Amino acid sequence: MGLVVQKYGGSSVADAEGIKRVAKRIVEAKKNGNQVVVVVSAMGDTTDELIDLAGQVSPMPAGREFDMLLTAGERISMALLAMAIKNLGHEAQSFTGSQAGVITDSVHNKARIIDVTPGRIRTALDEGNIAIVAGFQGVSQDKKDITTLGRGGSDTTAVALAAALDAEVCEIYTDVDGVFTADPRVVKKARKMDWISFEDMLELASSGSKVLLHRCVEYARRYNIPIHVRSSFSGLQGTWVSSEPLVQKTQQQGEQKVEQAIISGVAHDTSEAKITVVGVPDKPGEAASIFRTIADAEINLDMVVQNVSAASTGLTDISFTLPKTEGRKAIDALERNKHGIGFDSLRYDDQIGKISLVGAGMKTNPGVTASFFEALSDAGVNIELISTSEIRISVVTRADDVPEAVRAVHTAFGLDSDSDEAVVYGGTGR
Ligand code: ASP
Ligand code: MG
Repeated sequence: MGLVVQKYGGSSVADAEGIKRVAKRIVEAKKNGNQVVVVVSAMGDTTDELIDLAGQVSPMPAGREFDMLLTAGERISMALLAMAIKNLGHEAQSFTGSQAGVITDSVHNKARIIDVTPGRIRTALDEGNIAIVAGFQGVSQDKKDITTLGRGGSDTTAVALAAALDAEVCEIYTDVDGVFTADPRVVKKARKMDWISFEDMLELASSGSKVLLHRCVEYARRYNIPIHVRSSFSGLQGTWVSSEPLVQKTQQQGEQKVEQAIISGVAHDTSEAKITVVGVPDKPGEAASIFRTIADAEINLDMVVQNVSAASTGLTDISFTLPKTEGRKAIDALERNKHGIGFDSLRYDDQIGKISLVGAGMKTNPGVTASFFEALSDAGVNIELISTSEIRISVVTRADDVPEAVRAVHTAFGLDSDSDEAVVYGGTGR
């Protein structure tokens, strides 16, 4: 008998109908002879509503109370789901993250899982139950306070439980059919991948693809837990994310390995802003003091570019990108150190977007970079910044250009599907 962990996102359990539909799917998995552990998110937009409510009561709610509040969302869905399963004649028990043994550090609102001790889950399974676990939450090791893992953290809960229980697979049910070669909300001809490696998936996730969070994929790679991303609204096979290529059994050819594509996909991100530090003296130590200032403000950067300095003035400009949400903090920190660093002025631009092409095949296939820039040029898209890794090329453009640029690159690399258009079943992409 196998053990599967299934995770259902908020859009899959948005209302009573959704909960009943999901309950049926869970019961099917159980009837197929599996032990089933289910991780569930809060219903629909519950988490956003709770955040909103907190904001109405206090402008800066304490982390501990904020976490206590947010975890209530998953408590509602887990209990309702257990009830719906019982109503179908099967045994189910719900557990909070703490009861399920999800132990975290004590950083409220973005805690990290440091251990999983799923004793109670094992017992529940051995007694024939389906175990339902509230996603996105745990209990801190030192203070025993309730913590949350950060937005979208239920995926990480699911992978962590799958690792601790030595599950065969972690199935992540969402509102699209799997991982696509681009966001199907932007590219109608995006194609569902049958398989993608952990490496390419990690790179897509950090380039703005929202289907799986980086932290969840990182966890899965570390413990080598295959993830199967699929829709809770259809019965289709989704996308396998794993270290080894998927082996598909076909009637004609027997067993066949799914090949790694040269290019896995195109991701985009419009959540970043660009800061340009204008008029920086071109001498050693300048970049160091700018980025020390940013680091001390605990801000994560993405791209960094230094312009050629003007010979007449000996001054240069340094630009970098960062999450829009950190923009204010970064500007304030730099302004405070203006004299120490020595620059003329700051420019802030939040109308930018980033387009990234990802695929391990670019290591061994010359010409990928050239084709990428040709596609952008044919689409009339101007490039502002460029950065690369071994398996990724990213550019920053105007935010307005992003949809067109993503489509152009997707077509240029032959990623367009010629069959059905991608279906988006739910609301928000989570
Ligand atoms: N309910 C939480 C959120 O909306 C966690 C999750 O859905 O994974 O972020
Ligand atoms: Mg959610």
